[in-house]
Amino acid sequence: MHMLTKNARAFRERAAAHADEFSLLANGQSPQALFITCSDSRVIPSLITGARPGELFELRTAGNIIPAHHPDRPSSEAATIEYAVEVLGVADIVICGHSHCGAVGAIVRREDLTAVPSVRDWLQSAASPPAGAAPSTPDIAEAVQDHVLSQLDRLRGYPSVTRGLADGRLTLHGWFYEIHTGSVLAHRAHADAFLPL
Ligand code: ZN
Repeated sequence: MHMLTKNARAFRERAAAHADEFSLLANGQSPQALFITCSDSRVIPSLITGARPGELFELRTAGNIIPAHHPDRPSSEAATIEYAVEVLGVADIVICGHSHCGAVGAIVRREDLTAVPSVRDWLQSAASPPAGAAPSTPDIAEAVQDHVLSQLDRLRGYPSVTRGLADGRLTLHGWFYEIHTGSVLAHRAHADAFLPL
């Protein structure tokens, strides 16, 4: 923690080197996209995309799971998605899964999560992939990619997203990030496959 604190203490000086950029942030935000990904510390959206402050609105959940929409049940995920689409007017939403994902791995390997019941219940709320399907590779790429597509389906069920898609002002993207290579793949509908960006 010491290094993190030290860097945070010094951040003001680093920001001062970009004073013009940072002072403008006080006027508001107009992010290019809502970026939904896993809480995993190895996935850094701004590092991957090169986004500067104000350019990426983020939603991070364990396993980048989007819970099924329930209009009468408040959730951080629903609030973040609705705010991004209706207030900030983002034109694009990315759901980015990643290789070696512990959450997706726990689902497909049917890991015993008795000791972490909140994790267990959250993962059970995921729509996919089918528990027990043995990962074919150590990076569980196939399972994570299937999982991303399922979460995109969930996302389409959120009213603000449904409207945005119907109006043609919103585009959804499914990405897969390889943490060991830095490669990013995107789902291409015409091929129904994840291909290099
Ligand atoms: Zn993960």
